[in-house]
This record gives sequence, structure tokens and C-alpha cells, in this order.
Amino acid sequence: MFDFDPNKNYYEILGVDENASEDEIKKAFRKLAVKHHPDRGGDQEEFKKINEAYQILSDNQKRQQYDQVRKGGMGGMGGGFGGGGMGGTTFDVEDIFGDVFGDIFGGGGFSRGRGASKRPRRGEDIVVSLEVDFKEAYKGVSKEFKYKRNVHCDVCDGTGVDKESQKTTCSTCGGRGAVIQTQKTPFGVMQSQTVCPDCRGEGSKDSKPCTNCGGRSLTSKEEKIKVDIPSGIRSGEHLKVPGMGNYGINQGPAGDLYVKVNIKGGSGFKREGDNLVVEVEVPYYDAVLGGEVEVDHPDGKTTVKIPKGTQPGERISVSGKGFGQGGFGIWNKKGDMIVVPKIKLPKKLTKEQQDLFKKLKEIG
Ligand SMILES: [Zn+2]
Ligand SMILES: [Zn+2]
Repeated sequence: MFDFDPNKNYYEILGVDENASEDEIKKAFRKLAVKHHPDRGGDQEEFKKINEAYQILSDNQKRQQYDQVRKGGMGGMGGGFGGGGMGGTTFDVEDIFGDVFGDIFGGGGFSRGRGASKRPRRGEDIVVSLEVDFKEAYKGVSKEFKYKRNVHCDVCDGTGVDKESQKTTCSTCGGRGAVIQTQKTPFGVMQSQTVCPDCRGEGSKDSKPCTNCGGRSLTSKEEKIKVDIPSGIRSGEHLKVPGMGNYGINQGPAGDLYVKVNIKGGSGFKREGDNLVVEVEVPYYDAVLGGEVEVDHPDGKTTVKIPKGTQPGERISVSGKGFGQGGFGIWNKKGDMIVVPKIKLPKKLTKEQQDLFKKLKEIG
């Protein structure tokens, strides 16, 4: 269900306060990651633990969910549909490396812009639960709801790099990457060209992370969406809405949204395969002599014939009033409505009724 394990204390693992800022978390992670990095002789298991903690706490949405679940339940997720961000459990070390390791292993400066970590990543899928009334599920219904997903930061266009810093030409060398050094020597003034010490020959200043998204390249956005729930959907089924999941880092494409349908209510109704089973009270005399009863149905009330001599628990089928898609003749794939009569016997009898029953008993 979640990317995280609510029984673990990620704050303790990173050694930060529960109210720690994004920056504090990042710093704590860096420090520990350098210490425990397997390439540097650290313990692999310890490193994994730290990574897991960082992955959750550095993602606002995941951190919120984690805090919520730890603080006792799904409080914030009630009201029909839960929060997003439950899909895509794959944990990618490289993403994190690109994000915070650039300046440790990358050889100075904010080097996120270079190397493999720049490549776009598909975002995670999101699963949202949606409650649907039994009758709505029977007929099919359009449902509108809100949920949150990650979208490309619109300040940096999803690059994670501060636009201004991206364009900054090195002022020391004027973008040439080299500077002329002037030296006085006994032979006169000598000029020599060397690599610009300020930009190391790149001609531009190291870019800075976007302040709006903190370099993550993504921000959280509330989406409003309408989905068509097809008639006859079953509880627990998922509807896929392509491209409406989280967008990925580095301008990566979006994952998908899965709407999990929970059917509630439907008191009096039961579903068996494609059949709709409904219990109905039938007076004893109608069961004996035959008659008609009015039966509740998702499409409205309907009249059902009770055959003469109907026994308790006997099932009466009404074709074409069950679940599924209607059609003609042998193509009719709609299930049946099955009426289960509950035969109602009298508790108190009038003098006249008693006499009649006695007479019936005599006849046999
Ligand atoms: Zn940004
Ligand atoms: Zn320069």
C-alpha cells in the first residue's frame, strides 16, 4: 500500500527532529551517506536504511503520508478517496545521487546538470480509492474528485535548475573559459593564457538549484478529475487513467492514475457473478396461491410474479435484470435478478383465521 514502513522511525535513522526542514534532512542524509557509502567501505545495510528514510522524508507528499499514518491512522485520507503517491515503489539510488551527491562526488559545484542523472524519469503511478454507491455501480456513473500529484515545476520548467544561474556567463573570463595573465619579468611584461580559475574553463557559472522546487524539478499540484465508472463494475476493480500519475524528475513523463472502486451500501442487494440477488417478503397466501410482489431494483421498483406453491428459500429468476451489458438474443450478456422470497407467516390469528387453518388441517 505504501512506499514506507510506518513502524520504522525515519527521523531517528537520519538523526533529525520530527520538525526538521527539508534542508536539515538533506544535510543529515548527506553526512550519513558519505559515512556509510559502500564504495567508501561503509555498511551496505546501513546505507540502504538511510536511503529509504531519505526517500520518504525528502518527498513532501510521502513525508506527509508517513507522518499521518504514524500519528494514528488515515485521518487525512478519509472522505471517500485517499491521498496519492502510493504506486511506484521502486527506489532509485541514482535519482538521489543526482540530487544531492552531485557536489560530493561530482568534483565541486552543483553538478546536477551533467551526467546520467540528468536523464528523464517516468513518474510513479498513483492509486486513489473511490467510494461508489451500490446503485451507481450498477448503472454506471461519472464521478469527480480531487487528488494531489507531482507536476513539473513551472518556475524551472521541470529542469530543477535555477533559470538565472543557468544563463550566467562567467564574469571573470567573459565566457571564454580562459584568462590572460600579465606578469612582470626581467625581460618585460609577459602575457600568458591560462584556464579561467573561476569557471575551470567552462565559460559559465555553476548552476544553482531552482528555489521553487528545491532542485527536485517537481512540485505538488491538486488535480480535479472526472472518471466514468462503467456499469457493473466490481468492488476492488481498478480504472486506469493514463498519464494522470506523478510526473517524473528531469522533465520525465507522467505515470498513470489508478482509481480503485469500493462499492458501499446496497443493503438488501447481493451480487453473485453477474446476478443480482435480492430478498423479498412474500405473504404466505401469495406463496401458496401465487401472486405478485413489488421488488426494489437499482433501476427502480419492479413487479415480480410469485408462482403458485413457492417454497421458502426457493429462487425466482428474472432474466436481464442483473449485472453486465445488455444485448439481444444469445448476445444478451446481462445476468439475472434472483428474487429470494422470505415467506411471512402470521404471528397472531383472528378467530376466523384460526377456524380456517383448523379446517385446512382437517382437509390435509
Ligand atoms: Zn523548479
Ligand atoms: Zn570563467
